[in-house]
Amino acid sequence: MASVTQSFDAVVIGAGFSGLHMLKSLRDKLGLKVRVYESGETVGGTWYWNRYPGARCDSDAYIYCFTWDKQLLQEWEWSERYPEQDEILGYLEHVAKRHDLKRDIQFNTSVTGAEFDETTNLWTVRTDNGEEVTARYLIAAVGTLSATNMPQFKGLEKFKGKWYHTSRFPQTGVDFTNKRVGMVGTGATAVQAIPEIAQQAKQLTVFQRTANYCVPARNGKVDPEVIKARKADYEGIVKRIKESFFGQEHYFIPKSALETTAEEREREFDKMWDAGGFAFWLANYQDMFFSQKANDLCADYIKRKIRQTVKDPVIAEKLIPKGYAYGTKRQPLDTNYYETFNKENVRLIDAKTDGVIEEITETGIRAGGIVYPLDIIVFATGFDAMTGPLKALNLKGRGGRTLDQEWVDGPRTYLGISIAGFPNLFTITGPQSPSVLSNMPVSIEQHVEWITECIEAMRKTEKTTIEATRAAQDQWVGHVNEIVSATLMTSANSWYMSANIPGKPRAFLPYLGPEGVGGYKKKCDEIAANGYEGFQLA
Ligand code: NAP
Repeated sequence: MASVTQSFDAVVIGAGFSGLHMLKSLRDKLGLKVRVYESGETVGGTWYWNRYPGARCDSDAYIYCFTWDKQLLQEWEWSERYPEQDEILGYLEHVAKRHDLKRDIQFNTSVTGAEFDETTNLWTVRTDNGEEVTARYLIAAVGTLSATNMPQFKGLEKFKGKWYHTSRFPQTGVDFTNKRVGMVGTGATAVQAIPEIAQQAKQLTVFQRTANYCVPARNGKVDPEVIKARKADYEGIVKRIKESFFGQEHYFIPKSALETTAEEREREFDKMWDAGGFAFWLANYQDMFFSQKANDLCADYIKRKIRQTVKDPVIAEKLIPKGYAYGTKRQPLDTNYYETFNKENVRLIDAKTDGVIEEITETGIRAGGIVYPLDIIVFATGFDAMTGPLKALNLKGRGGRTLDQEWVDGPRTYLGISIAGFPNLFTITGPQSPSVLSNMPVSIEQHVEWITECIEAMRKTEKTTIEATRAAQDQWVGHVNEIVSATLMTSANSWYMSANIPGKPRAFLPYLGPEGVGGYKKKCDEIAANGYEGFQLA
């Protein structure tokens, strides 16, 4: 296809939550000419691709939505506490239609590369259908968990059955009826999918590498009176979540777990457990992420719950997490996850006790020397988080430098929104911003608003480029690492620590600021108010 050159004020990559909001904001607030590229056939991002059984949001829906459309906050009715993937996708479709966003989105188009031209101060963006366009601003709205991690299992090509990765599940779904299914992985995705697949499959074999601490989601219909009260208080809710630590209405207990009596602690733990959702993770004792002893008390409570729920003590023991602190891996929310292992048709193959996956054979998976016969394998093996989707864009900044060259020892950004040497590039919920440690829509909105105001300020002051200075970036990277090193987070082999991808430099990917999302927003706003401190404007 011949290349057609068009020029835009801004190119936005991705049409999920962040891309849709960015388009709305730049086009309708600032009047910019914007083109969005989206590799899917419609909007949705994460909610377009992740269609595995049981896929639903893990944050309460009343705050897992756009808060900039005040009228929609009042009008929209979620069917339950954590709606399923198709309902969230329907919501994003509705937003796109309501704000006439699709006319500026080119679907089924992936960005294959973008270069910053130092003579024109423009980005040249190339796509997989041969197009080449220029833009003053380039905004990566590619999501944090969109680059699939498909481990190179030996022998996969020989497998005679069918296999799927949860992040690229067929739109038509998969019929597991009467099938022998293998599930690889036990992260947040698998924890949602396993109970659903187990209801259909003849036999489900779960291959676990690391046991997870799961807490109950407690999904269900929300009391209409609660919905009414929330709608009446949306202004307050939005203010609170924006100023909160995690972008949620969850607050730590302002006390040490070690300074409470066993009875009081048990009461608090029961309360969080009964509330369900992220309460146990994000509204626990304030020293849970800092003190191993405090953490052990929280972990022990969950371990007791696992032992009470799983009838076979040998299976329960395999499901008990070992060797890392509670909460240092992303909290999976479960609906009958542990109960599922009581079913006759479900078995657990644990890497530590039964042996690791050695290869995929024609007929199944061989682990610990035994072949487990399978008709279907589902890989819930996660993502090359945060840096993966950005590196896949093949960006070239000043001097043709790539992110692979810049990020040899892990990501280096300023505020997670900008990268030194990559002028006018903005990364929504990028590495070293709170992003994945928060309720994503809150962090997305904060970045979109900040970027919009920044571009508006540049236009008013007739600046052509904005770029993080190396000094400010170095300081930010140091700050991110210093803060996290005071917590237990660095001890786990989590994707937060880049530990899930062989060869990925070990680095903490998000930002765990001392005052969370609220403190981070304050910092970003101060930087803007001080004439974009740490940035060079030209
Ligand atoms: P994940 O948390 O990275 O889990 C991947 C699983 O696959 C882990 O159990 C991992 O074991 C295992 N695994 C990876 N490579 C393997 C290998 N080579 N051999 C054997 N096992 C292997 O991925 P995920 O479950 O897809 O979740 C990723 C993130 O997506 C979550 O943390 C969450 O942020 C997000 N998510 C959100 C929602 C929601 O909000 N509704 C739902 C699902 C997921 P190890 O633990 O040993 O690495």
